[in-house]
Amino acid sequence: MKPFNVDLHIHSPHSISVSKNLNLDTMVETCKKKGIDIIATGDILQPTWLKYMENNLQKEKDGIFLYKNVNFILQTEIEDKENIHEVVLLPNFEAARELQKKLKPFSKNLMNEWGGRPRVNLSPPDLVDEVDAAGGLIGPAHAFTPFKAIFRQNKYANLEECYQDSLKKVSFLELGLSADTYIADRMKGLRDISFLSNSDAHSEGPTSLGREFNRFEIEKPNFEEIDLAIKRQRGRKIILNVGLDPRLGKYYNMFCNKCRRRIIFKEDKTRSFTLLNNYKIDANYITYFARNPIIARKNYQKEVDKGKVICPACKNELKKNYKIKLGVFERIEMISDYEQPRHPSHRPPYIDIIPLVEIIRKVLNIKSSKSKTVEKIYDDFIDKLGTEFSILIDLPIKKISEVNKEIAKVISSFRTGNIEILTGGGGVFGEIKI
Ligand SMILES: [Zn+2]
Ligand SMILES: [Zn+2]
Repeated sequence: MKPFNVDLHIHSPHSISVSKNLNLDTMVETCKKKGIDIIATGDILQPTWLKYMENNLQKEKDGIFLYKNVNFILQTEIEDKENIHEVVLLPNFEAARELQKKLKPFSKNLMNEWGGRPRVNLSPPDLVDEVDAAGGLIGPAHAFTPFKAIFRQNKYANLEECYQDSLKKVSFLELGLSADTYIADRMKGLRDISFLSNSDAHSEGPTSLGREFNRFEIEKPNFEEIDLAIKRQRGRKIILNVGLDPRLGKYYNMFCNKCRRRIIFKEDKTRSFTLLNNYKIDANYITYFARNPIIARKNYQKEVDKGKVICPACKNELKKNYKIKLGVFERIEMISDYEQPRHPSHRPPYIDIIPLVEIIRKVLNIKSSKSKTVEKIYDDFIDKLGTEFSILIDLPIKKISEVNKEIAKVISSFRTGNIEILTGGGGVFGEIKI
């Protein structure tokens, strides 16, 4: 058995807001720098992309699909009737064509230029049944984001309600950029399901592709082995999940869906926590002050959950009533069974980390991650030390120090969970403090 670094959810230029430069060559270039061994095709049911993949991937006899020595798994994301996104993995092109044919009558955009992430008018259990019948694997995508996700506000609070009798055919749950194992294992009902941490990449660059990934322990880089590992059968398993600290995600804290300000609570000993009109509004935050900010926040989020809280900033500025929405942090508080995560024994460790480009950028205090200086240092790191994933996860810190002390220090803080973070929310990514 060997370890493979795997990213099982990306998109193609046939989904909106995806880079036009994303193609097999640019993807493979990034995979080699980062150390991604197995990557998803993205958008495999979209006809043009399907044909492109079929014409270019080299098919090996044991179900392996190769392009320039990088392994591919056929994959798409589908939006169901309940506006929930699901990640779908397929064993081969025959299965992809079969599923495409089955879903065509239920979708207006599946066969279109922009059908990369098709909307299919089937209930979650019906969609699960179709994917299963085609020999594929399916599970909820970015399960905790406030949009288009199974656990979003006013939607489901567990898997059973959503998938009903078809739940046994749901093989995994994708954590998404806004959640990790520590958040998800606060829900009792997720004890038995395997978690995936995938990038959901919309571009070919190293800040996007593989920004979250899984490490699988399998025999060969093909669909059958991935299937066995997800189901934890015959010794195959996922041995590591890696991804963004949820606090860096775009939807961590409560926010106003209109002005995108985040709602936070701070302690103020002079005031009573019942007085919720003690707040301050600035460009990015609405800060409430309370004697006990935790209790005040918990009471507040209950009202937000009921859809009862109006954004005070928008009310002042626009004279309109826009509602506050729960972030991932508050939503998990509403639907979790435990205050602290309880990891089942099969759960692999989770490492919270950000892409190396972002670390370099932060250390050098450079705004753009597309900066030439950052790019040069990144490539220099890879040349001297090997792949990005080995630098971030495996290489002794001492080795990294020999190239750059500052960067080595930040990587070490991430590995040990000692990084200071400014939380994200309302569509704005969080930031690390150095
Ligand atoms: Zn999605
Ligand atoms: Zn607002």
